[in-house]
Amino acid sequence: MNFDFTGRLTDHVSQERLAGLVSALAEIGKSDGGGVNRQALTPQDVAARKFLSQIAADLGCEVYRDAAANVFFRRRGTTDAPPVVTGSHIDTQPTGGRFDGAYGVCAGLEMLAALSDAGVTTELPLEVAIWTNEEGCRFAPGSMGSATFVHPELLTSFGESTDSAGVRFAEALADAAAALGEIPLVPLKRTFSAFIEAHIEQGPVLEREGKKIGVVSGIQGVRWFRVSVRGRTSHAGTTPIEFRKDAVLVATELVQQAYVAAYESDTDLRLTVGRFDVSPGATNTIASEVNFTIDLRHPCEGVLDDFEAKFRSWTRRQSPCTISLQELMRHKPTPFSGRVRAALIGAAEQCGEPWQEILSGAFHDSMYLAEHCPTGMLFIPSKDGLSHHPGEFSASDELAWGAKALTLAMYRLANPLLDGAAN
Ligand SMILES: [Zn+2]
Repeated sequence: MNFDFTGRLTDHVSQERLAGLVSALAEIGKSDGGGVNRQALTPQDVAARKFLSQIAADLGCEVYRDAAANVFFRRRGTTDAPPVVTGSHIDTQPTGGRFDGAYGVCAGLEMLAALSDAGVTTELPLEVAIWTNEEGCRFAPGSMGSATFVHPELLTSFGESTDSAGVRFAEALADAAAALGEIPLVPLKRTFSAFIEAHIEQGPVLEREGKKIGVVSGIQGVRWFRVSVRGRTSHAGTTPIEFRKDAVLVATELVQQAYVAAYESDTDLRLTVGRFDVSPGATNTIASEVNFTIDLRHPCEGVLDDFEAKFRSWTRRQSPCTISLQELMRHKPTPFSGRVRAALIGAAEQCGEPWQEILSGAFHDSMYLAEHCPTGMLFIPSKDGLSHHPGEFSASDELAWGAKALTLAMYRLANPLLDGAAN
């Protein structure tokens, strides 16, 4: 089997079959305006898993589930080595669209169908995963399925998370397990050879640049802080400048300084002050307190460290007000595997469509998988960068180009001897 063969493999990826599957899946939990409301472990989510499991079984795949209700479709290889896995999630936000998450699972099934049509086997087994509760809107936090797969000890604490009706995640899991009962169980934290997630970009870059495929270099790190500035209320008209402890003046100086420093330091640094609360909030009273938030993101931990250190030093300087900083959340940057990126770049080149490297601004299940095995992601364009919205849209040819690149990359990773032979 020579390398030219993989070029013909993409002929077996069917745009019509893939677009048809995305549409059929969107019927399960369909909402007004063409959107989808299929929140994690609801009857709609379970029905969608059964629907996709039947398609995988019809392709000759084995179907498995694990203790977090993650579902896996397995296509045997010529060896029993750990599988090369792709997949994403099929739960949605209440105001979700047809593509976020669902695309990655449908593209994986299209890859399995294309390989069947082409009549080829791979050395390593291939799997398509459906990760439970990525969105985190019914049960917080998000990405519980992939997090539990990589860190099984989390299942106990996640089990106590309740939805707005008071249902515990553990109860919802038990109900799903009963409904999926005929599907055999496999352990959490099984060894994978590699993992690739195909996903819509959820941003405007690929569309703006006219690219069909984004090879994701990593997921940027994020830190959230709450900054509290405490001054003193006094009369707006009668308090001279030197007697004022004006929390708004001090807070706005800090915010302005942070924005200027962020924009000047690095174009990839994302700083957002999204909340700014002033107390007591009266027109003719100097503010006694301002609380504002900072959302800081960058792909390099060092850049985040430097900016945080700089910002902390500003909060310690001489001021008429007291300034304090509280960290609310911190996620390290996730750089993706060089080997998986190389496979995706080779696949994108072979497709012959314009592609580019891109950074993920949002979290994905791949963030956890990257702790477990060599991991990468592939993006396809999102019209107007829209997601978590019924208007979420990617064109059928864009769905197909992503699936073609995915198929080539998966085929390559699942045939390591082929790589050796080609070199
Ligand atoms: Zn998603």
